[in-house]
Amino acid sequence: MNREQYKPTELIDFSDENNIESMQNALDRVKGKLGQTYSLKLGGQEMTTDDTFTSFNPGNIDEVIGHFQKAGEREADMAVKAASEAFKSWSRVSVEERANCLFKASDIMRERRMELAAWMVYEVGKSWAEADGDVAETIDFLEFYGQEALRYSGKKEVVSFSGESPYMEYIPLGVGIIIPPWNFPLAITSGMATAAIVSGNTIVLKPSSDAPATAYQLVSIMEEAGLPPGVLNYLTGPGALAGEKLVRHPKTRFISFTGSMEVGLGINKAAAEMVDGQVWIKRVVAEMGGKDAIIVDSEANLEEAAIGVVSSAFGYNGQKCSACSRLIVVEDVHEELMKKVVEKTSALKLGDPTERTNFMGPVVNESSIRKIEEYVEIGKEEGELLIGGERGEGNGYYYKPTIFDGIDRGARLAQEEIFGPVLAVLKAKDFDDALDIANDTIFGLTGAVYTDNNDKWEKSVREFHVGNLYRNRKCTGALVGVHPFGGFNMSGTDSKAGGADYLLLFQQAKSVSEKL
Ligand code: NAD
Repeated sequence: MNREQYKPTELIDFSDENNIESMQNALDRVKGKLGQTYSLKLGGQEMTTDDTFTSFNPGNIDEVIGHFQKAGEREADMAVKAASEAFKSWSRVSVEERANCLFKASDIMRERRMELAAWMVYEVGKSWAEADGDVAETIDFLEFYGQEALRYSGKKEVVSFSGESPYMEYIPLGVGIIIPPWNFPLAITSGMATAAIVSGNTIVLKPSSDAPATAYQLVSIMEEAGLPPGVLNYLTGPGALAGEKLVRHPKTRFISFTGSMEVGLGINKAAAEMVDGQVWIKRVVAEMGGKDAIIVDSEANLEEAAIGVVSSAFGYNGQKCSACSRLIVVEDVHEELMKKVVEKTSALKLGDPTERTNFMGPVVNESSIRKIEEYVEIGKEEGELLIGGERGEGNGYYYKPTIFDGIDRGARLAQEEIFGPVLAVLKAKDFDDALDIANDTIFGLTGAVYTDNNDKWEKSVREFHVGNLYRNRKCTGALVGVHPFGGFNMSGTDSKAGGADYLLLFQQAKSVSEKL
């Protein structure tokens, strides 16, 4: 297979007239597809249930994205059994064929790039650029994991030993439950699902109920790419069903989860309990939340720092696990930096994401905007509101970018993940104090340091305890292969998605030796 060596996909330039027109057309096309009813896909069979739920456009809440089946215990059991049956053959399919399936899917996605982005504009309120970034990352995952699977395949050399011919090889695990979040509904869903599949496993994909239509795009593209029935089973329904039935099922071999800390810890606990008929320890990969910080030192380019902070805090409305939710600034430059940060924040355009020029769209749902409002009330007690603090206009869940200054390191705004456009600003006495504050959370996902001082940067590399650390750039925007992604502490199992170790999580090593 002559596939070009992986490199990250370039983003689409939406200042180009042709691209603007293509995206507008894609939005129109997808609009014509909204409101359909989707079935479950179990073992290649479409299936409906007695009950359905609806996915709405958060930017225009009267608009229905689609109706989805509310699977119950029976369907969950059927899904795991279908995956278990398909594992018998898929685990024996050559790795070349499996990788080829991902490559074909990535080619299809390249062709439908704008349309896929349009689904996310409608379903989860992404701006054009954010939606395109999500599709680009998806293509990258497919290419990267396809190539990684080939690299892992075959006999691996071990230490030679006279009279024997030892080697080691990687084999798949079995049935995996894939539970992604809604915020990268194509990229994270595809990354988690295809890493498992290309390694020879079969899966039950339980998408987030906020983004089932986007997840369905992956399912149908994988089918088009030739994935056999039963390898990827699509099961929509409440999150609790996934926890209770899929995670606890005796035939479930592993669970790959990305989402909040609370749900991740619950899954980890449920997976640890052995049930009747289970013959393995279930493997759990859990990537969870963050309370990510950007440190701005007194020796830094403050203009660049302000740009990085605003982009990391308010890109996709702060709804990225990597979003900057704490700005830790050394007090000497606090005033000057905050002037710039507030000025840039006030220039951000908030509104319907189908409009190209809107930088921010709605947050994902009603409970999300309520949570933000609760934290804003807490923020008013804990600090000084500099900007925002109220809903934006529009028939959706619009919330203005919000900044609280004077937040204490122990405050709830400095400790708890809000997952919205709310930035807490903390003052540090000096750089060491800033590092100390940055590490003072239970999370450890991303972090960035703006400093021109090499010693301080080297100290950050040693002491800033986060899975993804950056200097003089924003703390969001990890690229597949370039910035393997995953966090420390309560941010998860540090799986490093998009890194060379990732596929190992979906395989087990078999050591073989023959006496000569
Ligand atoms: P969530 O935890 O509410 O839901 C995640 C998934 O778990 C969804 O598919 C949901 O249906 C399912 N779920 C809910 N309850 C469940 C249960 N009891 N048992 C099993 N599954 C259940 O998270 P979310 O709101 O979808 O996503 C936002 C969160 O995800 C944030 O905390 C964010 O930081 C985190 N996140 C982390 C990363 C990372 O790489 N570390 C990436 C993206 C998002």
